[in-house]
Amino acid sequence: MTEVFTVINPATARAVAEVPEAGLAEADAAIEAAAAAFPAWKAMPPGERAALLRRFAAVVDAHVDELAELEVRNAGHTWGNARWEAGNVRDCLNYYAGAPERLFGRQIPVAGGLDVTFYEPLGVVGIIVPWNFPMPIAGWGFAPALAAGNTVVLKPAELTPLTAIRLGELAIDAGLPEHVLTVIPGKGSVVGERFVTHPLVRKVCFTGSTEVGKRIMRGCADQVKRVTLELGGKSANIVFADADIAAAAASAPYAVFDNAGQDCCARSRILVERSAYDEFVSRLEPAVAGVKVLDPSDESSEMGPLISAQQKASVTAYLDEVEVAFAGSTPGGDGFWVPPSVVTVEDPAARIWREEVFGPVVAVMPFDDEAHAIELANDTEYGLSGSIFTNDLGRGMRVARGVEAGNLSVNSHSSVRYWTPFGGYKQSGLGRELGPDAPQSFSELKNVFFAH
Ligand code: NAD
Repeated sequence: MTEVFTVINPATARAVAEVPEAGLAEADAAIEAAAAAFPAWKAMPPGERAALLRRFAAVVDAHVDELAELEVRNAGHTWGNARWEAGNVRDCLNYYAGAPERLFGRQIPVAGGLDVTFYEPLGVVGIIVPWNFPMPIAGWGFAPALAAGNTVVLKPAELTPLTAIRLGELAIDAGLPEHVLTVIPGKGSVVGERFVTHPLVRKVCFTGSTEVGKRIMRGCADQVKRVTLELGGKSANIVFADADIAAAAASAPYAVFDNAGQDCCARSRILVERSAYDEFVSRLEPAVAGVKVLDPSDESSEMGPLISAQQKASVTAYLDEVEVAFAGSTPGGDGFWVPPSVVTVEDPAARIWREEVFGPVVAVMPFDDEAHAIELANDTEYGLSGSIFTNDLGRGMRVARGVEAGNLSVNSHSSVRYWTPFGGYKQSGLGRELGPDAPQSFSELKNVFFAH
């Protein structure tokens, strides 16, 4: 039976929409319709599939403001972020629209004939999206999956279904055939689980918590189902004394408090070389106070609320265990606000140093030398991203190679570009998204030998 989920604006705690949630029967029907749509989508000439994806990108482009407004209201994202996120879906579609005509196999020298390889689509791909970046994470899955010739069923997070539903409508407006991209709002335990258990879903592309990711990987093992996992993080921002300390301190808040810290790439641990520690912390304090935490409907807001009362309670529980060194402000009111907060930590066993808080909380710790910095950075089960601030090019290269994480930046905090690969080491994930190879990860590689 269909249940209805009330979508809440996290900045005000008021309802913004009611969304019917699919049950098992609707999930099965959507998966079967996607499987029925697959042969024609797979057989479509590459240039035509590319043209449809470009048209989809153009339709998204024409709706950037509408999509952004939905995300400001549904997820509490700032206008700047929300416009970037809608634009990122457009850009991913345009980038992967180049793939159908370029999904090259190889010709491999063999005796007695001709050996060639082909990339072939898998069939139906199930994409499971979390609430923290509803639009980009949907696009990182569906754009390359569709380009490679798969059909897609996509389940948004319960809390943030609105932009995904709209993107599904825009795909139809752009002329994508019915059931090539189907958005199915519903519970993870029902619709998400069905992607794992339904034999017609040939790959699950999951972004979310490490705990649920492990469960999905175990479930996929039953059918040797392909899986990509993008999971949690506890990334380090490593600041050496030879760096521009003023610049490092000014940028550090935005590397962790963006999206109110609900970012798998958040640099939630700051490691500072001991000789620069006091200067860094004294410069960090005004930088944190300067973060504009405002209702995201205000265009100048730099940080909005947390996504839900539950997330606020979870983050507040971490803060209750520690002494906050200094914090920024919040606008107050009924929304799910937590101020950007800084904690200094001595003990690497502290819970706030080890666990992903997924809120606007950063822990700062001193280190002694390069080897110590790498050791502390790697002393975590996660390995998603990280930053290194130094003016020594050799050190920047050594430390970037020494830190066990999938996405590092030296003297900046950038980690996600749709044309470069993204994903985690260790328990931050399995496989990579984005970049030039993403369509291959939604394909099987077939080898054919033709005898002379
Ligand atoms: P979550 O794991 O609770 O939920 C993610 C999605 O999985 C939701 O759509 C949910 O409905 C679904 N789900 C829940 N239980 C399921 C089940 N048993 N079977 C199938 N699907 C199920 O995570 P969340 O709280 O929405 O997101 C926050 C987490 O996501 C954080 O840990 C964060 O680090 C991680 N994240 C990682 C990346 C990355 O790229 N590595 C990006 C964004 C978020």
